[in-house]
This record gives sequence, structure tokens and C-alpha cells, in this order.
Amino acid sequence: MMMQVTKTQEVACPKCGENSSVPAPERDVELKVSPYVAAFGNHMEIQCSNEHTFWVYYC
Ligand SMILES: [Zn+2]
Repeated sequence: MMMQVTKTQEVACPKCGENSSVPAPERDVELKVSPYVAAFGNHMEIQCSNEHTFWVYYC
């Protein structure tokens, strides 16, 4: 079976605080929001509704 992402989690944009929905893995992982990209771990680039780009890390 393919891994399916069925849950989403709300994260706040670090620049404007606007909430965005990001896919959350099934298992319990902590989502960490960062305004910078870093070359570690699984991460995803997110754009809030005000077109700020930030990164969510799955820890
Ligand atoms: Zn924003």
C-alpha cells in the first residue's frame, strides 16, 4: 500500500500568523515551523495565504 496522508494540521505562518493546513503524517510527529530552509530531515515548503514561504519540518 502507498503511504497516504489523510490528516492535516494547522500551522501558523511565522511572518503573519495566518494558519495554513499542511499534510500531517499518520504517526505522531511534531511539526516544526521555520522561516528558513535547512538541509535536514523531512520538510515541506508551505505558502500561506499571504504568499509568505516557510518550511515545516517533521521531527
Ligand atoms: Zn504569512
